[in-house]
Amino acid sequence: MSTLTRARSAELFERACSLTPGGVHSNVRLASPPVFFERGSGAWLYDTDGHDYVDYLLGQGPNFLGHAPPSVTEAVAREMRRGSVFGAQHVLENQAGELLLDSLGWADKVRFGVTGTETDQAALRLARAATGRTKFVRCGGAYHGWLDNVLSTTVDGQSEPASAGQLPHHLQDSYVVPFNDAAALDTVLTEHDDIAAVIVEPVMCNTGVIPPVPGYLENVRRLCDQRGVVLIFDEVITGFRLALGGAAERFGVTPDLAVYGKAMAGGWPVAALAGKASLMDMLAGAVTHAGTFNSSIPACAAVIASLSLLREHPPYAGVEAHGSKLMESIEKLAARHGVPLRIQGLPAAFHVSFGDSEVIHDHTGLAKLDLAGYAEFAKTLANHGVWVAPRGVWYVSAAHGDDELRAATERIDAALASHA
Ligand code: PLP
Repeated sequence: MSTLTRARSAELFERACSLTPGGVHSNVRLASPPVFFERGSGAWLYDTDGHDYVDYLLGQGPNFLGHAPPSVTEAVAREMRRGSVFGAQHVLENQAGELLLDSLGWADKVRFGVTGTETDQAALRLARAATGRTKFVRCGGAYHGWLDNVLSTTVDGQSEPASAGQLPHHLQDSYVVPFNDAAALDTVLTEHDDIAAVIVEPVMCNTGVIPPVPGYLENVRRLCDQRGVVLIFDEVITGFRLALGGAAERFGVTPDLAVYGKAMAGGWPVAALAGKASLMDMLAGAVTHAGTFNSSIPACAAVIASLSLLREHPPYAGVEAHGSKLMESIEKLAARHGVPLRIQGLPAAFHVSFGDSEVIHDHTGLAKLDLAGYAEFAKTLANHGVWVAPRGVWYVSAAHGDDELRAATERIDAALASHA
């Protein structure tokens, strides 16, 4: 396959830049090539210039069932005839809540929201209210949304604002520890008695896809229990992707609160806060969590259809098989072309970059990788019909099968040949 040209996308991008800053509606998209898509179907994207792409970005993760999964699309279209949002309860809410709680297995109650960013804030607020303490612990390199108290980069071991206009003092509401380092967490929890919560991505999917080392999550759970600290799992990526019950099921460690999004609703904008009744019931009065669009009809219809599909036809073995074969193919192709690609993570979500193949266990390991070089290679992949995130994470969906593996392998081969 020769390199793609995209005259129509170029025209649309020029117009977009006159309408919206950077031509994009989320800063995360600034790093991707300016391609305009017309539609997505299954594991494929189709651009305005007639090209197709095997998609391993999945909209940054939500399209775990593939694009436009028929049962979800049909359910949303059907149920939307009832209306959209009433500012009151409606008949789909209980079914969505029951399916979600039954799928998780450990949580007593749920509140639906729209984005992971705001729902993480609800979890932190609830933990503060429950403990009467003000601060929280997070892991270096973790992403918990784009708000002032969680968006940071690490400079010389210090947590610094990652955006202009961000209030730096909001970052002082948290202590930062390296992921996979229970001793560091123990030290922080021992030194400070003002900690309400520990929030952790059980797999650091935003930072090199770093899985927990054996025993780490168990130790985090134990340390939180010892100090009466609320343990929050940010399962926005891992939820419903690593297993029906997310990372909690996969690693056998139960948090007090967890935040879900992305894979939960077949591509629809829905998030959820789930947790133990003793905490969640504070939302019945003392603690405010609000949102005009929370539990809208399309959101609940999407949750019901997606979770029903995940429960009736679990895609997990297929996703694992595809992801494993793809990781293996990428490694073999890179070796054949003499390109130093390295891969780490899980078959459902893994990280590709240039650099030493040594496994990294926390965000400091990222400094050893050539992330900028990989971001350029992601553009080369796009030019050969493989759509991936420039920051290195590849997501596998239930819709990726043998045809996609074959096409992806051929296209990655061509991209590596042109890169070398
Ligand atoms: N938490 C994690 C682990 C995420 O990966 C993300 C988004 O990528 C968020 C929170 C924020 O979610 P949203 O983009 O829906 O606000």
